[in-house]
Amino acid sequence: MTSSITEPALDRPDLFVDGEWTSPTGGATTDVVEAATEQVLGTAASATPADVDLAVAAARRALPAWRALRAEARADLLDAFAAQLKARAKSTAVLSSRENGMPISLSVGVNGYAPSLMVSYYANLLRKKDDDDIRPSALGTRTVVRHEPVGVVAAITPWNYPQSLAAMKIAPALAAGCTVVLKPSPETALDAYVFADAALAAGLPAGVLNIVPGGRETGAALVEHPGVDKVAFTGSTAAGRAIGETCGRLLRPVTLELGGKSASIVTADANLAEFASHLAEVSLVNNGQTCHACTRILAPRSRYEEVVDAVTSTVSALAVGDPLDRATQVGPLVTDAQRRRVLDYVEIGRSAGHRLTTGGGVPADRDTGWFVEPTVFADVDNSARLAQEEIFGPVLTITPYSDEDEAVAIANDSPYGLGGTVWCADPERGIALADRIESGTVGVNHYALDLAAPFGGVKDSGLGRELGPEGMAPYRRTKSIYL
Ligand code: NAD
Repeated sequence: MTSSITEPALDRPDLFVDGEWTSPTGGATTDVVEAATEQVLGTAASATPADVDLAVAAARRALPAWRALRAEARADLLDAFAAQLKARAKSTAVLSSRENGMPISLSVGVNGYAPSLMVSYYANLLRKKDDDDIRPSALGTRTVVRHEPVGVVAAITPWNYPQSLAAMKIAPALAAGCTVVLKPSPETALDAYVFADAALAAGLPAGVLNIVPGGRETGAALVEHPGVDKVAFTGSTAAGRAIGETCGRLLRPVTLELGGKSASIVTADANLAEFASHLAEVSLVNNGQTCHACTRILAPRSRYEEVVDAVTSTVSALAVGDPLDRATQVGPLVTDAQRRRVLDYVEIGRSAGHRLTTGGGVPADRDTGWFVEPTVFADVDNSARLAQEEIFGPVLTITPYSDEDEAVAIANDSPYGLGGTVWCADPERGIALADRIESGTVGVNHYALDLAAPFGGVKDSGLGRELGPEGMAPYRRTKSIYL
């Protein structure tokens, strides 16, 4: 199978195992459907548990040589891999947007360029890292503390940011000296093959990276596999809990990046124009299909109607349309099932008597594609289902608060703790408020992930961190050698 650098193949009937294209044992393929057109975009192989066996065996065979490579040599190979990913960035961004409906203006960064940046980041970290550490011991002897790769990594990813979320696992794992079996989501299986194209072109050794698309059963077979040493998962809290239970039973290290229901606290002295100008990227990014989206807006009673007006007018003016049009701010949802789920939540909001200030249906001019109008409900008590449950679509709630203590209490009254923002005139006060929010990440007057800083959640949002130097730690374990 071949594909040019500019145009990735859309017909991918094979798996990528041991550096080769191999037919799935069951011969099964899954159609990947384009979110905006509802037409079949391409087909991807569907791996069986027997294929998972082959992929894990290939990763195990590749492990000794890969982990034994000197850091410099591994970093050079990763740089070559990054260059190949970068050469494909534009076409990968388009492919991912066609799969999941992400506006192209966002996809170019997060699906296009981010993977190569992450691979380069960890290659550089590898060059800088002093791997071993010799410590004087309390007994007057010395101890060598080695950092070893954990081994074979099972990486399981969702469809919403398919490239970034895979790279957040592949890049630190390979840098640490681990080998990887990636199981991407069936909705976005096609873009995952770009990692295989880039690995082949860069000359990554066979078996270092293996790709086995498939559904939940394929993922479960991988998590359970005796040849896997560590699981890195991003997806729903329900699936994460099941995977965490399995890993607990197997005493297998696991990183879980799960759901969210983050809050934006708009303080009484916030610059509302600035808040509104960031609303699309903070609260509705990727059509609301973002784990860290701040979908709960908490507004001070003193300025409540002003905030409701600002949110309503900003959201109602968003450009909804073709995800491949650079002017589009909100595209279609990933699947019909996802749209039905989101529209069900809109009905729950209506029945609960919340005040619908904009949206609430399917755009009248969009009869093809799984679009939902960006929607705002005001006067939502934080105990309501709309404020407690992850909707994963373009639906915001607005809740009033009386003072900042109450704002913090409402922000923290959630099963989740992944993102959050504070909007206020004084950034120092913003940091003080951010310190009080139970969450793995908080933004002050903006929200943007930083490749060099850890990202992850608390409570039902997960366990462990990705990105930054901390993102490499889960792929290594220490060994103390007492001299
Ligand atoms: P999902 O949990 O249904 O699926 C995610 C991946 O896991 C898919 O590849 C799926 O095939 C696989 N899978 C599902 N059940 C499994 C099981 N029992 N064992 C092994 N593999 C299994 O999630 P989704 O609908 O694809 O993605 C949306 C969810 O992902 C949302 O809840 C969102 O908040 C979350 N998410 C979290 C982050 C984060 O970093 N915290 C980032 C993006 C998405």
